[in-house]
Amino acid sequence: SSYHKVLEENRLLYNQVQDLKGAIRVYCRVRPFLPGQQSNGQSTVDYIGEDGNIMIVNPLKQGKDARKVFSFNKVFTTNATQEQIYVDTQPLVRSVLDGYNACIFAYGQTGSGKTYTMSGPDLMTEETWGVNYRALRDLFHISKERADAIKYEVSVQMIEIYNEQVRDLLVSDGSNRRLDIRNNSQLNGLNVPDACLVPVSCTQDVLDLMKIGQKNRAVGATALNERSSRSHSVLTIHVRGRDLVSNSVLKGCLHLVDLAGSERVEKSEAVGERLKEAQHINKSLSALGDVISALAQKSQHIPYRNSKLTQVLQDSLGGHAKTLMFVHINPELNAFGETISTLKFAERVASIELGAAKSNK
Ligand code: ADP
Repeated sequence: SSYHKVLEENRLLYNQVQDLKGAIRVYCRVRPFLPGQQSNGQSTVDYIGEDGNIMIVNPLKQGKDARKVFSFNKVFTTNATQEQIYVDTQPLVRSVLDGYNACIFAYGQTGSGKTYTMSGPDLMTEETWGVNYRALRDLFHISKERADAIKYEVSVQMIEIYNEQVRDLLVSDGSNRRLDIRNNSQLNGLNVPDACLVPVSCTQDVLDLMKIGQKNRAVGATALNERSSRSHSVLTIHVRGRDLVSNSVLKGCLHLVDLAGSERVEKSEAVGERLKEAQHINKSLSALGDVISALAQKSQHIPYRNSKLTQVLQDSLGGHAKTLMFVHINPELNAFGETISTLKFAERVASIELGAAKSNK
């Protein structure tokens, strides 16, 4: 089949990529068609292999040129459940209780399913909870299991980065104040925004906080349409564990990042506030790509300071920290252009070397 032909051509490069993977994993998730959408069932996703390959077909082209294969650590089909998505993420979440730092990102164009993956469609339905709530539920569960040996404390921060300004989403007075990024001695000297750090001990605590967060996020939305898709939201879980025998303390943190929509803005649309937003999003997403690429290449200089996003995450990108990116695909034909640029970004993040090898061909 054409899939196997294209795959064969990619085999060599693909093996090279597999060898390089480790510090960063990239998972791709294709969202299903929504009810009432595109009844003819045509999709830009031609094939999803169990081996982590996804083949995209260009609706406007024919033959071999119409198809392109991208390779990731894993590709989830449209019917993957929230539970299945989380199972593979679980070891990374659990490593935070052993003192590791980790970042989980959701990347993709607006409407591709980022919030669905991270939060889920409905706070009140545990079955469809996304990675955020499952991670916290898991952390609470394991810390209870280990309670005889280690006393854990879990606390959370939630911030939003909009137009290169960092704001606290957990302030209860709705003041929505701007934050500076500071070295925080309470948090082991991490460079973190000086945002509310709220202790939590059960999922109900978390749900109550999320309601405050959502309300604070909506405050800005009255002034600017769809603010949530134009800003990055970062939920950070800090874990502190004291060994009851040795009294030693370990600290770990997990950043759960719902990134701003990656879509390029139409030239005609790009004026005023919209242009400013687009430029800021562009800048911070490419800064993120640059940092991850530099880490993959083991560069001397990692350009963390090029955006607020990479500054906030600095202590959890690189070093011994683990990174996972969920790349989201909207399978509709009219999303083809964005789908290709999303996959190219993801491929660059997964392995800079692959991009270099390809352009030499
Ligand atoms: P984004 O955060 O990327 O803008 P959303 O998460 O809001 O996108 O998803 C857009 C729409 O698609 C929502 O109505 C959401 O419920 C639905 N959706 C996204 N992913 C899935 C999925 N895996 N299964 C079912 N519905 C989904």
